This record gives sequence, C-alpha cells and structure tokens, in this order.
Amino acid sequence: MEIGYIGLGNMGGALAERLQLARPLKVYDANADAVRRLVDAGATACRNAGEIAADCDIIFLCLPTSEHVRSVVFDAEFSARLTPGTIIVDQTTGNPNATRDMAAVLRERGIALIDAPVSGGWRGAQAGTIAIMVGAPDADFERIKPVLDDVTCNVFHAGDTGAGQVIKLVNNMLSGAQRLLTLEGVALAAKNGIDPTRATEILTAGGGRNVFLEKFMPRVIDGALAPGFTLGLLLKDLRLVCELGSASGVPMFLGDLTRDLYQWHVNELGGACGQRLRTCLSVRGQAITREGK
Ligand code: NAD
Repeated sequence: MEIGYIGLGNMGGALAERLQLARPLKVYDANADAVRRLVDAGATACRNAGEIAADCDIIFLCLPTSEHVRSVVFDAEFSARLTPGTIIVDQTTGNPNATRDMAAVLRERGIALIDAPVSGGWRGAQAGTIAIMVGAPDADFERIKPVLDDVTCNVFHAGDTGAGQVIKLVNNMLSGAQRLLTLEGVALAAKNGIDPTRATEILTAGGGRNVFLEKFMPRVIDGALAPGFTLGLLLKDLRLVCELGSASGVPMFLGDLTRDLYQWHVNELGGACGQRLRTCLSVRGQAITREGK
C-alpha cells in the first residue's frame, strides 16, 4: 500500500506529519517550502501530483476549496495516471455537491473519491485527537478506517459521499458563531470591571461554557494565539453552509448573520488574515482592554 498526500498547508501539513509517524508518505504541494517541512519529517517528495497518482493507491488531498480539488483530480496528467482501485481521500472543507459530482465521474473508472474533512486545527492533528468526519460508502469507509485511525482516535462515519463535508460545514457554522458571541460576552464582562481571565474561568464553569472559551480564550488574553486558519477560509465555509441551508429549505437566521459578520471582517482585514490574529486584535483593541482603548 502506497500513500500520497497533496496539499501540505496549515492543516494538510499537520495531518500529513501525523500520518507520516505511522506510515511512509509520498508528498506534493505547489509550495516547495511546505514540501520541505514534510521531507524533514521523513516523507518522500514527488515532483508533481501526477507522480503521486502513478505511485500511490491511497491519495489524500487537503486543498483550500473543492475548485482546487477539481483542478488537481481532473488535471490531464494526474487523471491519466490514476489506476482502478485507487481511493482519493479529500480532507478539504469542500462543497458536498461538488464532491458527489466528482465521485460519480471517478466511480465510472473504478476510482473512489470520499470526503474526510477535519476539525481541531493543527494542535488536534499533532495530539492525535482531531475529529475526522467521513462521507463514504460503507466498503470505502472500512477500507480507509485503519489509515485514519493512525491519525486520530476520533474518526466518524457521517454517511455516504458528501456527508462528511455537510457535518463539517455545520460544525464551522456553530464554531464561527460561538467564537463571536464569546468575544462579545467576555468584552462586556471586562468593560464592567471583571478581569477577562476571571470571566473566562467563571463562564467555563457555567452554562455558557464552550470550546472557544475553554481552549482559545486563555491564549487570546495572553496574546499567544498564532494565526492558523484564515478568515477567507472560514467565510468560504459559511457561504457553503448558508447555500446548503437555502437548497434544503432550512431557515438560516443565525447562519446568515454569522456569514455576514465574517464577510464584514474580510472586507475590513482581507481574507488572508489569520482568524485568531483578528480575535486577538478585536479583544485587545475593542473589548478586553479595561481603559476602553
Ligand atoms: P493553506 O492555504 O494553509 O494550504 C493549502 C495548501 O494547498 C497550500 O500549501 C497550497 O500551496 C496547496 N495547493 C493549492 N493548490 C494546489 C495545487 N493545485 N497543487 C498542489 N498544492 C496546492 O490552507 P489550510 O489552512 O491548510 O486549509 C486547507 C483546507 O483545510 C481548507 O479547505 C480549510 O477550510 C480546511 N481546514 C483548515 C483548518 C486550519 O486550521 N487551517 C482546519 C480545518 C479545516
């Protein structure tokens, strides 16, 4: 069994490094620095995606969007070198409908494309606790599960192809909204004289507890958060989830509001801005600073 990984950015790089601890990997990224980091961790570099298609029977992808996935998977050289029996595991937070369309085309050639997006960031990948949400037919899930188990103890089969991306989009709507609400809440407490660290401690013990409060707020207050997930990528997820809501006839009152709030942040700061960096700025500049600067 030969395994390849294409897309070694903030998330894919961390996932590939974790997998590389258990299984030898061949890797490719358009960015040579990203490839070098994985080679330093023990992986073998390929010169292009086509080499991975030729050499590997399991191919992981972690690219910004489903459009990037389509451009790699249907690139003439890559596509020509894929052999029947290959399974492509797409870890991109992508568009479930686009994934289903691509999977249907590849299935005609005996090639499986399944979705396996993640939540938990690079720290979760490093710790082996990141959640992997798989959309795949049962047989493909059983085939890939032992490999995913080498990345994390949290592998979930959400349903058929596309279901992993559906639940991942729902996840990002919840986490995006709770992040903003938590910042407002701690800001309000701080402006009314409660130390932000104390506010976080108290709220974490109460019914307002959430992952952002527990894991991220202490680092926000310390100014120790490193940007790892850009505003542009989160906005992409919020657009996708709201489109899915409309297509499914589900009112998205809070989802739409959350998308528009992040759109505003992107307009102000640019999509390349680290979401966590923005978090630090907003908390320090507008909110938590007691002097009200
Ligand atoms: P990133 O921009 O850091 O990395 C993307 C990588 O893909 C880059 O290294 C880029 O060079 C490479 N790439 C782009 N097009 C390519 C091509 N045609 N061929 C080869 N390489 C190509 O993005 P990221 O933060 O790693 O996010 C990747 C996906 O994971 C996104 O869908 C994102 O929403 C999702 N995700 C990210 C995080 C996070 O914490 N960063 C968490 C969960 C999910």
